[in-house]
Amino acid sequence: MERQETDVLVVGAGIAGLSAALAADRAGADVTLATKAKRPEEASTWWAQGGIAITRDDPEQFKQDILDASAGTAEEDAVDVLVENATGTIRDVLVETVGIEFDTNGEGFDYGQEAAHEQPRILHVNAETGKHIHVPFLNYVADETDVTILEDTAALELVRHEGRVYGAVLERDGEWAPTFAGATVLATGGVGALYPRSTNPDSATGDGIAMAALAGADVEDMEYVQFHPTACHTDSGTFLISEAVRGEGAILRNGDGERFMPEYHEDAELAPRDVVARAVETEREATGEVVLDVSEIEFESEFPDLAKKCEEHGVDWQSSIPIAPAQHFLCGGIDVDDRGRASLDRLYAVGECSRTGVHGANRLASTSLLEGLVWGQRAGEDAAGNEVETIEPPELLERDPELPATFARDKFRRLRRVMDEMIGIERTPAGLKRAQAILRRLKGEVDAYIRTRTSRSLYELRSASIVSLLISHAAAENDQSVGCHCIVEDEKEPAESAAEQ
Ligand SMILES: Cc1cc2nc3c(=O)[nH]c(=O)nc-3n(C[C@H](O)[C@H](O)[C@H](O)COP(=O)(O)OP(=O)(O)OC[C@H]3O[C@@H](n4cnc5c(N)ncnc54)[C@H](O)[C@@H]3O)c2cc1C
Repeated sequence: MERQETDVLVVGAGIAGLSAALAADRAGADVTLATKAKRPEEASTWWAQGGIAITRDDPEQFKQDILDASAGTAEEDAVDVLVENATGTIRDVLVETVGIEFDTNGEGFDYGQEAAHEQPRILHVNAETGKHIHVPFLNYVADETDVTILEDTAALELVRHEGRVYGAVLERDGEWAPTFAGATVLATGGVGALYPRSTNPDSATGDGIAMAALAGADVEDMEYVQFHPTACHTDSGTFLISEAVRGEGAILRNGDGERFMPEYHEDAELAPRDVVARAVETEREATGEVVLDVSEIEFESEFPDLAKKCEEHGVDWQSSIPIAPAQHFLCGGIDVDDRGRASLDRLYAVGECSRTGVHGANRLASTSLLEGLVWGQRAGEDAAGNEVETIEPPELLERDPELPATFARDKFRRLRRVMDEMIGIERTPAGLKRAQAILRRLKGEVDAYIRTRTSRSLYELRSASIVSLLISHAAAENDQSVGCHCIVEDEKEPAESAAEQ
């Protein structure tokens, strides 16, 4: 890798990073976009199913739905930014610039209905909206702008001095060098790799959040990890059954064949995600399994891609789809303002790695692509005005790239077990304390290696261990159950967990 200079360095090529890169390029900046992905599938954006919410003609109701889903914890100013900019930004960037053709129904857009939305307002392309946005957006930025895209290139560490960020150290093929930038925009996505069952790609190791926290940036709301209630787990992998399927009328049934959601919430299957996820987990424990009954809806014609996916994974959807909750989204992250500015000078964060205030303790379905798109535009534009300066790069430049082959894999396994057993859908004070002790030990082991070695998998493990600790600290400090954070009293001191051995 060569040492480089650029006006704006964007790290991550999901919807948020692409949006920021496009906006900075439009503002006349020289932009470098680094992504550790080798294929588009290594971003959550590619996997999004249901779609992207648009404001339509009732902004007040959209705002209210976001606030309600968050149990009143979302920040109104941030929600206003999202709602006021939704329609204009989707039209400008996705429809008119990138040329995405959302599904229509003869009268205009075919707005989808999803849980906790008072009106149909979701733009979609089949039930595979993510890839239909991501691939054309990537192609547009690569072919139609002056943005330099570096694939298979990971940011390892921010270059910072006295409260200001000067770029990041980038790694490719076992070589690394600093890229100095007038402004650095982190768009590294979520943290699904910290959990054994997640809808996210394996590469979602929380790198941006860890790098920012290590550099001293403020990180907030980390206890609010959202679990999606309806993921299908098979031997060949985990995949999501979109909320839109319940929006169409699919029913959740327990192991006794009974519909149970009306007993948990007046909106039944369309209750907020945290309510449905906890209900599914409770019924699974009580009756052995939970299935999604799609017999009363036109599943195959309405959701052809999902029907195909079920078949590919050997799931007979006609008799019903076995489901269980899975980690899905992080509501918290790097604390930013309405332009994506973090608490360190020249550092921005957008998309899932950021905490804008839009989601509070719980996210409304189909607002995450929108948040990444809107904040990406605002941050990219703002970041474009900064001059690049260089400083002494960090000392990791002298280290050895070799790492024992199984080191990261074994430690990751332990970390995921802790997150699953102690920092999942329900947390107890004792469990969180024990999780912190194990995670601190694990981070100590990783730090001992990092002093002398530099490899991408070691840095991903370090990110995961830092972010796990941030989640466990935030969860332990918050004794109020709200949104995705559910704290219950310790029933009894749990037996020693496999994660502690
Ligand atoms: C299965 C699934 C379905 C979903 N459905 C919906 C939906 O219907 N509607 C909705 O609004 N949201 C949905 N979401 C959530 C939404 O897709 C994500 O929150 C959103 O796409 C995040 O976008 P992002 O750009 O922040 O991150 P991502 O799309 O995850 O992109 C992160 C990028 O950062 C790169 N990266 C990470 N670390 C580094 C590093 N150290 N160096 C360089 N590059 C790095 C990755 O390679 C990737 O390119 C869904 C998510 C999943 C997983």
